[in-house]
Formats: sequence, C-alpha cells, structure tokens
Amino acid sequence: MQLLDGKLLSENIKAELAAEVALIRERNGKIPHLAAVLIGDNAASEVYVNSKIRSCEQIGFKSSLIRRPADTPENEVLDIVRRLNEDPDVDGFIVQLPLPKHIDEEKITLAIDHRKDVDGFHPINFGRMAQGMPAFLPATPYGIVEILRRYNIETSGKHCVVVGRSNIVGTPISILLSRKGYPGDCTVTLTHSRTRDLPAEVRRADIVVAAIGIPEFVKGDWIKEGAVVIDVGINRIPDASKKSGSRLVGDVDFDSVAPKCSHITPVPGGVGLMTVTALLMNTLKACKKQVYE
Ligand code: NAD
Repeated sequence: MQLLDGKLLSENIKAELAAEVALIRERNGKIPHLAAVLIGDNAASEVYVNSKIRSCEQIGFKSSLIRRPADTPENEVLDIVRRLNEDPDVDGFIVQLPLPKHIDEEKITLAIDHRKDVDGFHPINFGRMAQGMPAFLPATPYGIVEILRRYNIETSGKHCVVVGRSNIVGTPISILLSRKGYPGDCTVTLTHSRTRDLPAEVRRADIVVAAIGIPEFVKGDWIKEGAVVIDVGINRIPDASKKSGSRLVGDVDFDSVAPKCSHITPVPGGVGLMTVTALLMNTLKACKKQVYE
C-alpha cells in the first residue's frame, strides 16, 4: 500500500507556483491576488481561511481577508461581492461557506463574477466543467484529479465509485472522472444516502472517492483488493489520548481499509491540503487569464 501524500504534492506544487510568481515579478507583471470573505466566527471556517491566506503568503501571492460579524445583513455581503467583482487588482475571491443562516448562500454564489470564481462553485463554471470547456474546477475535485495525475494512477476504463453527491465534491468529481482524457475515462457510479447495498457497490470499485461526512464510514470489507481510495472526509472525533481531546479522521476507516488497497490518501495530509493548493492554482490561472479573457 502506498500513501498518496497530499502534503508532499502540495509542497511541490507550491514551489512551482512560487517560481512562477518570481518570474512574474522579474517581468514587472501583475502578482496574483486572492481575496477571502469570512462572515461570522465558525471555528472550522477560520482555520480554512487562515490556511488559504498563509499559503498565499508562502508563495508570494497577494491576499486580502475581509471579515465581518455573524449578524452582517445579506445586502452588505452582496455589496462586498460587488466591490470585489469590480476591483481590477483582485484576480479571484472566495466567500467561505457555510454562511450564517440568514444569508442565502445560493444568492451569494450567483452574485460572484464567474471570471473571479476561483472556488468553481458558480453554475457557469460548473456547466462549463461538465461540458469539458475551460472552467475554474471546484477546488476539492481539482485537488483529487491532481493527486491521481501526479501519482500516475491509471484511470482509463476503471470503475470508480463515488460515495456522496454534494455539489462541491461528489457530483463534480463524478463528472470529471467520467470525462474523456486523463485523469478520466472512468466508468463512474455515483452513490448516496438512498443507494441500496452501498457496500456491494463499493466492492466493485477500482477507485473509491469517499465524501460523506460520517467518520470512518467506509470499512475494509467493502474494499476490493488493490483499489485506490481517496478519502475526502474531515471529521473531528473525541480522543482522550490527545492533548486537545480530539483528532481528525476521514470518511474511511483507515486501519481496516489501508491493508486492502494499493493507494490511499491519509487524513490529515491528503485531500484537504490539495484543496487549498487547487485554489492557488485557480488564482494563478485567473491572474494569467488562462480560463477567461
Ligand atoms: P455533504 O454533507 O454536502 O454531502 C454528503 C453526501 O453524503 C450526500 O450527498 C449524502 O447523500 C451522502 N450520504 C450521507 N449519508 C450517507 C449514507 N449513509 N450512505 C451513503 N451516502 C450518504 O458533504 P460534503 O460537503 O460533500 O463533504 C463530505 C465530507 O468531505 C465531509 O467530511 C467534509 O468535511 C469533507 N470535505 C473535505 C474537503 C477537503 O478539502 N478535504 C472539502 C469539502 C468537504
């Protein structure tokens, strides 16, 4: 069994991005600029946004953080989005989800200029991705295809079972892996909470992508010998042996699954870090106008 090391890959990709920034500086070009909007004080969101901002600093991107309290009215958030849409210095921006309950996430997503939508959540980017047109790919699925590509995992003709059909992970990764080309050309089964006999579906998979949100849900006896397992889950569970009283686990029961598979992403240190890195790759593309003129 080989670990698919998201930490190592992220470091390699960040070094490539930093080298590009150095070249841009030398030519007096425009430095990529990512802005992040954080509303409220959700602890997990804070960790994610800080990690995005820190990553920008590491590689020489410009970054801005716009913070507002949890009771910020929806209109004010829409104003922030409009200002960022119009700011010529900002290449791309994200509005960290989840938003407080009184704010309509769909409305906010639709208000983002798709040319700056480096999270790839806008329906224009989603539709273009589905049709194989240039688009900002959603960051987590983009991170997953980069893992497969950089580890040279064979995908053509393989049977891939995706568990979970969310708009940000399960559904887009099922589209990307079924698309023509590499990584892709898989035969994909998209499973969810209404799937009958999920273990039997997963047992047929050469590649499993687990994005459910239930700690250690996928068990070793669901896994075909030699399968590739991509664990997207990030769940915090109590652990009295840790100083913090808790630890992070994925949606896959690592201890029973790892011995069965050929490759597996660890949690932490797998898909999560690649998600942040994919956001940086999208921001560079936005700055270089590689997706939209
Ligand atoms: P979500 O809650 O939006 O979707 C969960 C999906 O799992 C749903 O489609 C549902 O049908 C399916 N599901 C729920 N119970 C099921 C069951 N018993 N059997 C089969 N399917 C079931 O979740 P999401 O936003 O896609 O996130 C999934 C996981 O990935 C979470 O742990 C989340 O924290 C993590 N996540 C990680 C990253 C990252 O960067 N690594 C990014 C996004 C989400």
